[in-house]
Formats: sequence, structure tokens, C-alpha cells
Amino acid sequence: ASTAPVTVLGLGPMGRAMGHALLAAGHPVTVWNRTASRAATLVTAGASLAPDPGSAVGSSELVILSLTDYQAMYDILGGHTDALPGRLLVNLSSDTPERTREAADWAHSHGARFLTGGVMTPPPTIGAEGAYVYYSGPRPDFEAHSAALSVIGEPRYLGEDPGLAQLLYQAQLDVFLTALAGLLHATALAGSGGISAAEFVPQALETLTGIPAMIEDGDALGTALDARSHPGDLGTTTMMGATADHIVATSAAAGLDLVLPDAVASLYRRAIRAGHGADNWTSLIEVIRGAEV
Ligand code: NDP
Repeated sequence: ASTAPVTVLGLGPMGRAMGHALLAAGHPVTVWNRTASRAATLVTAGASLAPDPGSAVGSSELVILSLTDYQAMYDILGGHTDALPGRLLVNLSSDTPERTREAADWAHSHGARFLTGGVMTPPPTIGAEGAYVYYSGPRPDFEAHSAALSVIGEPRYLGEDPGLAQLLYQAQLDVFLTALAGLLHATALAGSGGISAAEFVPQALETLTGIPAMIEDGDALGTALDARSHPGDLGTTTMMGATADHIVATSAAAGLDLVLPDAVASLYRRAIRAGHGADNWTSLIEVIRGAEV
């Protein structure tokens, strides 16, 4: 079963990386992509390029989709639904949990089974140590195919709700995209003083990678957030909020875009207004959750 045939629909950087990893692990791989030329390196490596999506889906019980969004799945498979009965569609594309649940219903209505996934690694580290993928949907389908899926990355099963893997993917990308935007804003801020990006970025990365040590104990942080406990003995929302305001003022003086620092400062100001000034910065979550305005 570890060398079961696999079909990959969508050959962007991610789909191509998955196809190569599956071939390297000995799986017969069938591919299809709207732009056929993107299949070239996979075909050289031994993949079969299907002439149309219907025959691609017909080649394997396990069909992996790696597309920009869920609309692309309907665009590709909408005219080939007679190929779907008995297939397991594993959609590893980004979209909202709601769109994902609708897609699971759509697949079921055409006789297919459906798993959702969120790939938590970039293409170069697909299949490498540390790569993992969130999945949700029917557990028996996940377990039946986990050998092939583990070629892409360590599979982490979350539960039956097809929206769950998508939700966790969005949550992780929330961390990621916000951090990346912060990194770029900070680089522009340093640049306003003549510090080049080449000089600043390695220092900013020290801050990013130092965050876990500053938090000290991620489990304790999670438990405190669940308990809505925000003791401010080592630092307060008022102190951090003052710094957030200074970043806005310095950015304004430098003529930089203010959307990002304004958003951060706004969270601090509203937490302070709601009475959390003497609490820890973690009190911002009360504003974010909507408990405070
Ligand atoms: P790309 O945008 O490069 O590839 C998207 C694929 O979707 C291509 O095969 C493209 O076809 C196809 N596609 C898009 N719209 C349509 C459509 N309407 N009809 C038919 N085909 C369509 O994305 P990636 O490969 O980088 O990523 C794929 C998924 O993986 C995304 O959902 C992304 O969020 C996720 N992901 C990506 C990571 C990354 O670092 N790249 C990391 C983690 C997750 P064509 O080639 O013809 O344009």
C-alpha cells in the first residue's frame, strides 16, 4: 500500500514538490495541470501526464489537489464529475473553512470522499524532516492513505470537520503573514535612518527567533491565555502600548505606511481603555476576541 498510485492536480511550486517526493518514494504518479508545460520535470522523473482532468482522476484512488483556491477545483473538476465516484480527493489548497465544508459536500454529492489539508512547509522542504501537514475529514479515509500522505510531510490529523485543517492552516498563516509584514515594516523603518536591509534583516531575524525564549514557556502562555490570566509583573500593557505609539510616531515622521503599526497600537490603546493597563501584553487577546472594544 506504500506505493499506491497517486494523482496530483495542480503543478505550482507546491504540487511539483509533492509530485517529486511521491515519485522518489516509489509511488506511480499521474499529474495534470492547466498549464501543461509545468509538468515537464515531473514527466522526466517518471510521472504520467494525463491528457485531461477526468483521466487524471481515473488513474488513482488518491487524488491530491494543490491549487490557488477552491474555485480552481470546481473549474478543473466541474466538467469531469463522472470520474469522481470512489475517489478520495485530498485538497491541500488554501481557502476558508466554510468554502472547504461546501467542497466536502460537493465531493460527497458526486460519490467522492474528501479530506482537507493545510501544508505547513514551503516547497523545498516537502518530505523533509520537520515538514508537517494538517488534515481533517473522515478518520478512516485519513488512516487508509496516511502512508502515501506521510511522504509529503508528517500528517497531523485534527478531526472530522473538514473545515478544521483549513482553520489551523489560516491560524498558522496568520502568525506567519503578520510576522513577515512586521519584518518588512521594521526594515523600512531602519532604512529611514540609512541602515540597509542587508545590515538590518539578520538582526531582525535574531528578534524573531528569540521570541520563543522571551515567552519562556509556550505551554504556560497557552494555559494563561485559556485561563484569561494576564499578570503584569514583568511588563505591562501600558509600557508596551507606549512603545507601540512611539513606533507609529517614528514611522509617521519617516513618511512610512502606518497601517500595520496603527493596527498594533490600536490593540494596545483599546486594552488599556478597557482597564488592562497594569496587566501583561497578553491582555490584548481580550480585545481581539471581541470581549472588549
Ligand atoms: P501556485 O499559485 O503557484 O499554483 C497554483 C496552481 O493552481 C497551479 O497549478 C495553477 O495552474 C492552478 N490554478 C489556479 N487557478 C486555477 C484555475 N482557475 N483553473 C485551473 N488551475 C488553476 O501555488 P503553489 O503551488 O505555490 O501553492 C499551491 C497551494 O499550496 C496554495 O493553496 C498555497 O496556499 C499552498 N501552500 C503553498 C506554499 C508555498 O510556499 N508555495 C506553502 C504552503 C501552502 P497554472 O499552472 O495553469 O497557473
